[in-house]
Amino acid sequence: MKRYSVFAIAREALRHHTGWERAWASPEPKASYDVIVIGAGGHGLATAYYLGKNFGITNVAVIEKGWLGGGNTGRNTTIIRSNYLQDPSAAIYEKARSLYETLSQDLNYNVMFSPRGLLMLAQTHHEVRGYMRTVHANLLQGVETEWIGPEQVKRLVPIMNIHGPRYPVLGALLQKRGGTARHDAVAWGYARACSAMGMDIIQQCEVKGVRSEGGVVTGVETTKGFIGTKKLAIVVAGHSGQVAEMAGFRLPVEAVALQALVSEPVKPCIDVVVMANTVHGYMSQSDKGELVIGGGTDSFNNFTQRGSFHHIEETLRALVETFPIISRLKMLRQWGGIVDMTGDRSPILSKTPLGNCFINCGWGTGGFKAIPGSGWAMAELVAKGEPGALAADFGMDRFREGRFIDESVAAGVAH
Ligand SMILES: Cc1cc2nc3c(=O)[nH]c(=O)nc-3n(C[C@H](O)[C@H](O)[C@H](O)COP(=O)(O)OP(=O)(O)OC[C@H]3O[C@@H](n4cnc5c(N)ncnc54)[C@H](O)[C@@H]3O)c2cc1C
Repeated sequence: MKRYSVFAIAREALRHHTGWERAWASPEPKASYDVIVIGAGGHGLATAYYLGKNFGITNVAVIEKGWLGGGNTGRNTTIIRSNYLQDPSAAIYEKARSLYETLSQDLNYNVMFSPRGLLMLAQTHHEVRGYMRTVHANLLQGVETEWIGPEQVKRLVPIMNIHGPRYPVLGALLQKRGGTARHDAVAWGYARACSAMGMDIIQQCEVKGVRSEGGVVTGVETTKGFIGTKKLAIVVAGHSGQVAEMAGFRLPVEAVALQALVSEPVKPCIDVVVMANTVHGYMSQSDKGELVIGGGTDSFNNFTQRGSFHHIEETLRALVETFPIISRLKMLRQWGGIVDMTGDRSPILSKTPLGNCFINCGWGTGGFKAIPGSGWAMAELVAKGEPGALAADFGMDRFREGRFIDESVAAGVAH
C-alpha cells in the first residue's frame, strides 16, 4: 500500500493524478478463512483491522451485502463523546475516543477527527442533577468532563437562546475533547488498512445462512456460495436479529429507524456539538457549512431506512427553540438508518450459544463514536475466544442474569 502524504499529493498533482492506486481490492471469496466478519460497517471493519494489527490474524474476510460503510456507519451524525455514566461504558467509549485522537496517523487516512467540544444542555433541574452526577462519575473514571453554567454556555455558543420559552438552559455538561469525525472516512480508512494486510473485503455478497457441525460454526451460505470459516463474527447492527436467527439463537434487540437531516450550507456559526436532550434535538456544523441535525428514534419497529415524518417536525421545533437564528434555513436532505436497541441501551459484545460464533451489536443510536474501541475489544474476543476487560461486562447473558448496564436513564439519549 502506497503511503498517503503531502509529497504523494504533490507528486500526483504533477502527473495529473495517474498514479493513485485503488484504496482496497475487490476479490472473489476464497473457499475458507480463519475468520469471517459479517458486516462491513465501521465495527466490522475495525474488528478485522485489530485482528490483524493486535493478533496477527490476517486470513480474514469481511462480507457485506451492500457497499462498505453503506449502513449506519455512513448515515450517522458523527458525534464522538465518552461521557457515559456506568464504568464499563465509560471504559469502552473512552478507549474509542482516545484511539480516534491518533486514528488518522494509525490508518494513514485522514478521518477528520475534530475534537471541537461537546455540550449536553441541562434544561430541567432533574437534568442538572443527572449531569452533575455524570461529571463526578467521569472524574473517577478518568474521563475529562466538566459542568458549566448558562453564561459559559452562551459564551461558547452565542447563537443559542439560553432563555428558551419552555426550557431555559440551566447549564451543561462539557466534554472538551468530544466532537466529530468524517464517518465515511472511518470506514474507508479501516477498509484500506485491512486490504493492505491481505484481508478480503467482499461487497455485494449477502449472508443467507450459517452452517454448523456439532454445535460449532463451519461457514456461511452467501449469494456468492458457501464460504468456510473457523470463527464467525456477526457485526450487522440493525439486522442482528435476522443473522442471529440464521445462527440459531435469539437476541434481546429491537430494530428501529433513526433519522438525520442537513441544512443548506451557511458560514461558520457554531463550533461545538450541542445536544439538547429535553427538547430532543442535536446539532453541529459540518466542514461544508451544513448544519447536521438529529433527533429521536421511531417508536415502532421497521426497516425503512427513512424515519417518520413527524420526527422531522419535532426535531426542528426543538432546535428552532434553542437556536431561533436557524428558523428560516432550508433543509437540504434527510435520511435514516436502522439501529439495534437493547433494553439497557448498552451494546452486546459476546460469545453466543453457537461455538466459535461471536456477536457485536446493540450500539443503537450511539455506536459511531465507539468504532475503534469496539473493534479493539471484539478482535480480542474473537482471537482469544473469551472477552477481555473492555468487553467483559457486555455479554448477552447479562439480560438473563439482571446485570444491566443502564445508560438509557443516565444519558437521556445515547447518540
Ligand atoms: C441517523 C443516525 C444518526 C446517528 N448518530 C450517531 C452519532 O451522532 N454518534 C454515534 O456515535 N452514533 C450515531 N449513530 C449510530 C451509529 O451510526 C451506529 O451505532 C454505528 O454506525 C453502527 O455501526 P455498525 O458497523 O455496527 O453497523 P453498520 O454500519 O450498519 O454496518 C452493518 C453492515 O452489515 C451489513 N449486513 C447486514 N446484514 C447482512 C447480511 N445478511 N450479510 C452481509 N452483510 C450484512 C449491512 O449492509 C451494513 O453495511 C447514528 C445512527 C443513525 C442511523
